[in-house]
Parts: sequence; C-alpha cells; structure tokens
Amino acid sequence: MQSVTLLGSTGSIGVSTLDVLARHHEQYQVYALTANRSIDKLFEQCQQFEPAVAVMLDEASAEKLAAKIKKAGLSTEVLAGELALQQAAEHDSVDYVVAAIVGAAGLLPTLSAAKAGKQILLANKEALVMSGHLLMRAVEQNGATLLPVDSEHNAIWQCLPVGKNQQYHYDGKGIRRIILTASGGPFRDYAPEDLEHVTPEQAVAHPNWSMGQKISVDSATMMNKGLEVIEAHWLFGLSNQQIDVVLHRQSIIHSMVDYVDGSVLAQMGNPDMRTPIANALAWPNRIDSGVAPLDLVTVGRLDFSEADHQHFPCLALAYQALEAGGTSTAILNAANEVAVEAFLNRQIKFTEIAKTIEHVLSQQVATSGETLEQVLADDQHARRLALDYIS
Ligand code: NAD
Ligand code: MG
Repeated sequence: MQSVTLLGSTGSIGVSTLDVLARHHEQYQVYALTANRSIDKLFEQCQQFEPAVAVMLDEASAEKLAAKIKKAGLSTEVLAGELALQQAAEHDSVDYVVAAIVGAAGLLPTLSAAKAGKQILLANKEALVMSGHLLMRAVEQNGATLLPVDSEHNAIWQCLPVGKNQQYHYDGKGIRRIILTASGGPFRDYAPEDLEHVTPEQAVAHPNWSMGQKISVDSATMMNKGLEVIEAHWLFGLSNQQIDVVLHRQSIIHSMVDYVDGSVLAQMGNPDMRTPIANALAWPNRIDSGVAPLDLVTVGRLDFSEADHQHFPCLALAYQALEAGGTSTAILNAANEVAVEAFLNRQIKFTEIAKTIEHVLSQQVATSGETLEQVLADDQHARRLALDYIS
C-alpha cells in the first residue's frame, strides 16, 4: 500500500488524481488532502477518501471544515496554514506527494517533499520556473524522485531512455532536441487586433483541455508553453536551443523527442490529465486511468504549424527570461501571476498581460537566485512592480 499526500486536491489536477486513486484503492491510500478555501469540496473528498489529515490555507476555513468533519464522525484531523501544508508533504508515512497547487504557493511544500526524499508527482510547474536549480538540487541531494505530470513533460519522459538515477541528465544522450506541442489555446486563429477585446470567459474556454482558471489563461497567452519550456530545461537538463515548440491543434501528440539518428519518438493519447497522472503514479508499471482508448480514425488528422513568437509574445518573453538566467524566470512568473489575476478581475486587457510582464522584466535586475530567500524576495519585488504598472 502506497500513501499519498495530495496538495491542491480540490483543483482540476487534484480531482483527476482522486479519480485515478479511487480506481486503485487497494494500492493507494490518502494520507493528506489540502485546499485553499473550498470547504465543501474538501469535505466531500474527506468523506470519500478518509485521509488522516486535511489542510486548509486559512484558519477560518479550517474551523468550518473541522466542524463538518466532527459532525460526520470522521477521524480526519484538520489543520491550517503553510506550515501544516509542508508537514503534510514531508510526513514519515507518506510515499508520494502530488504537487497540484497552482502558482508560487506550491513552491514551499514541494521543496519540503523534495527535502524529505519523497516521490513527487509534479504538476505545479511554477515551482520549477521560480527556482529550478534549488528544487532539482533538493531532489538530488535527498534521494527524492521527481515525476512529471504536466502532459508534455510526461510525454517526453516516456520517450526518453529512463533509469531512476539518470533521469534528470539527458544532455549527450543522442538527443538533438525535444519538441513541446501546444494547442495554441482558444485564440490561435484570432487576428492581433481581435485579441484586444477578448474576455476572461473566452480565455478560460480551452478547445481541448478542461483546466483551472490560471493555467487556462496561460494557455490562451501561450505563457503556459513558455513556463513549460523552462520546466523542461530543469527537468531534463537540456539547453534552451534544444527545446522547441510546435503548434498542434488536436492535442493528441503530447510532445516528442528528436534523436540524432533521425528517430522522432512521440507519445499520443486523448487529452485527459488522468493519463500522465496514472503514468507517474504507477511508474515504472502501468495502471488503468479511466481514459478512453485513442481512436485515430475518428481523430482523422494531425496538424502542425509554427508557434509564432510575434503572435504569442509571452512565449518569447519566457525564452528571454530563461536565457537571462538567475531569478529572471521567477520574475517572469510573478509578473504573470499578477497580470493574469488582474485580467480575470477585468482590470487589464488580455493583451496587457504580456505588456505587464515585459515591463517588469525590463525594470527589475535579476539576482543569481542562489538562495530561497533571494528567489522569494525577487518574486515579491516583481509582484509590486507589476501591481504598480497595472494601477
Ligand atoms: P486549480 O486552480 O484548478 O486548482 C488549484 C488547487 O490549489 C486547488 O485545490 C486550490 O484550493 C489550491 N490552492 C490555490 N491557491 C492556493 C494557496 N495559496 N495555498 C494552498 N493551496 C492553494 O489549478 P489546476 O488547473 O489543477 O493546476 C494546478 C497546477 O497544475 C498548476 O501549477 C498548473 O499549471 C498545473 N497543471 C495543470 C494542468 C491541468 O490540466 N489543469 C495540466 C498541467 C499542469
Ligand atoms: Mg502542459
């Protein structure tokens, strides 16, 4: 029996993960479930999975959840706050930690899991974007294992020559480049002038995937692909020049590895996050994920086209930040989080997301990011600059 802590259980990835776990309850038990503020949803999950611990970010929500848990006669202990999140990630009895909190809030508990030597199923790409070298170092120094859940990275990982202790060092293994596929999001066919007036509702309506709000907006701007380029750099130890992006509107090929002998390996499947989640959970074995088998005849065709950096300025900004190094990617991420929230709150236009990030990157001097304190300080500074620019 493997024991799982699921950070961010009420979100899109969290719910998909619980769906897979429920199909294999003889193999996995849930140690902890955590959420920001969704009391009712977390309560329902506690009823179904009876975790030892449930963590809510704020005290008031935790008190309400505790009252419901008590009334229902469940034995789940309810805790609150960031420290409790970290403890849930590093607890002795835990084997797997699913990092499915959205944004920078996921960094500290993910680092805790790494320091405690856990098997980490990483969906929270922002943790790597903010401090890739710190997280990878913590993983390697503490014998942790980082398994990619992001569909592109899980695809690449399935197409790479995997061995437990070599999985993060692929440079010089005959790989010419990796190719991340991108659907292009809901606005891929829009003319630039039409992007001025798109609404949050349009931006979160992704053509192929059902996801949380923030990543849906990131997909519409293609910042999601930019964050994934940075994520791939850290996960696989490849240079920026070895990471390409191609538009593929059907989202059937989830990414590819191009080898020097001319072989290109691709991983395919229906666009459903339960596949990469089940793959990372069961690795190196395979388990049923509940995803329908891929019917290529129904899909009919697979299209590819160039991911134009002019049409998607956020993608260009992400490459630039990766090239600049240090905390540039943490600054990019922080500015993006602030801008996306402002767009969702109708404070800025869709096209101002990229402008905000560009402004912050041009104003702030990045540091080496050698320490966590530096990364967090630069993240906070970038947020202030972004807020100033927006107001
Ligand atoms: P979501 O918004 O649906 O869910 C986020 C979860 O994190 C919720 O459980 C929420 O309660 C919790 N949370 C939010 N803010 C928090 C905070 N400050 N402290 C503690 N908990 C907090 O997001 P999602 O779409 O499930 O995405 C989660 C992560 O997975 C993101 O980093 C995203 O980029 C990545 N990811 C998602 C998908 C997808 O299909 N949804 C695919 C690949 C990667
Ligand atoms: Mg992805």
